[in-house]
Amino acid sequence: MGFKEDVGTKFIFVTGGVISGVGKGIAAASLGSILKARGYSVNIQKCDPYLNVDSGTLNPAEHGECFVTSDGAETDLDLGHYERFLDQNLTQSSSLMSGRVLREVLENERAGKYRGKTVQYIPHVTDLMKQKILEASKGFGIHIVEIGGTMGDIEAQAFTEAIREIGLSVGRENTLYAHVVYLPYLETSKEFKTKPAQNALRDARNSGIFPELLLTRSEKPAPPKLKEKLALFGGISKEAIAMLPNAESIYQVPISLELQGIGDYVVSRLNLKPSKANIKKWEDLTDKMAEAKKKSVSIGLVVKYVDNEDSYFSVTEALRSAGWDNGVIVKIKYISAEKVESGELKLDDVAKEVDGFLVPGGFGNRGIEGKILAASYALENEIPYLGICLGMQVAAIAGARRAGLTKANSTEFDSDTPDPVVTTMEDQKGKELTGGTMRLGNYDCEIKEGSLAYKLYGNNLIQERHRHRYEVNAKYLTDLEEAGLIITGTNPQTNLPEILEAAPELNHPFYIAAQFHPEFTSRPTNPQALFNGLIQAVV
Ligand code: GLN
Repeated sequence: MGFKEDVGTKFIFVTGGVISGVGKGIAAASLGSILKARGYSVNIQKCDPYLNVDSGTLNPAEHGECFVTSDGAETDLDLGHYERFLDQNLTQSSSLMSGRVLREVLENERAGKYRGKTVQYIPHVTDLMKQKILEASKGFGIHIVEIGGTMGDIEAQAFTEAIREIGLSVGRENTLYAHVVYLPYLETSKEFKTKPAQNALRDARNSGIFPELLLTRSEKPAPPKLKEKLALFGGISKEAIAMLPNAESIYQVPISLELQGIGDYVVSRLNLKPSKANIKKWEDLTDKMAEAKKKSVSIGLVVKYVDNEDSYFSVTEALRSAGWDNGVIVKIKYISAEKVESGELKLDDVAKEVDGFLVPGGFGNRGIEGKILAASYALENEIPYLGICLGMQVAAIAGARRAGLTKANSTEFDSDTPDPVVTTMEDQKGKELTGGTMRLGNYDCEIKEGSLAYKLYGNNLIQERHRHRYEVNAKYLTDLEEAGLIITGTNPQTNLPEILEAAPELNHPFYIAAQFHPEFTSRPTNPQALFNGLIQAVV
């Protein structure tokens, strides 16, 4: 890459200061959204400084959910925000972790590609980072790049250097650095403190990054005059500062940025052709949310992780969106599958508090019997049930047991089960058990006409995203039928079962489960069909 090279794309680099976990991803996605609302083509990419190759092996209790793109990338949950805010499908190129870059550098080194040179962070790692960022930006008018963590972290330094160098080579008129900082509030003196933000800006400049857009996050609304202080002591122009206190809903952030003039500032700072932003869809959504406040329903999520609400983020967003669309607020109750399994939580009691059950995706056998119990309880007690991935597998196990195969199980949880109603298929046997080896991303599903699935999708061929290794075993379909469960969605190429539902004879109000993850295609203003169906059934 030569010096000063106009690649035809404007770059916005979003970094974090003070502390992480304040919603940098949502800020970056919202920025993208108000620019897309002006008609520009926008792409967005997350660069995570972890040494992991992808998010597939990260613990959701620590990192939040693993989001899956249609091309099968296992990514950080921020990709989910990006897709929902931009209403746009992203690909593997939008998710870059240091581990992926380092792996490639080491492979190149082993292959002798560096021709005897000393292999170093600068330039070898940073050059590859720059290359991956530029590749992802190709064909887009604006490319937003969010760097995970906070600036100054040792592990983030290579990305910091890479984005500094991109700014140098594409020129200031094509680059904007945005810094997201946290404003602490001191209860004792009743004031917001700007010093940490000032320090964070200074730290960024020490690394050669000159932020010209400042997004401040705070728990409560800070007085507008604080912008003057931040401008003066932080060295940022006043119109380039946005205050983002906690909003009632994350989908109000684009409106808030727009009202503070950030979209116009970015357009003029990057010399883009001015155009009017159309953010009506966010305004309409806000109205819908306000309208929905009059009524609420409650969905019980039977899960392994109950302490980190990010662990099932796309699922809860899909539920909420389906709620707004149906004029209700969806309250989410996290039900510990382990407590159901141990008997500490009785499903009879849980059922009094919730209007429906949802068993989302999951791995490993912790709490698995609790999930099987929930799937079986919902079937027998006519409680609306949506099963996702593992939630379909436990429904199949529950069905097989109901048909008399009392030891039926998945080979994931009991490798010696006499009735492997869920198991790996022949072509998967012997494959590694970790690291991007699952059935990932989009696959076709053919839907039987006349089924509940057909009614919900209104279509007989759909594509949804997958992330799993085990499959419902076709050998047991007659046993499942005996229990009242039928397969209404099948992969046309492999014949693998994709959708399971209660047979019409059961007259169940709503019982459906999918091997794929419908939550990843749900959008705030366009909720996914299965979620919509569940909420309609409970309303
Ligand atoms: N553990 C199951 C499998 O690997 C389900 C995976 C999931 O729910 N995402 O098939």
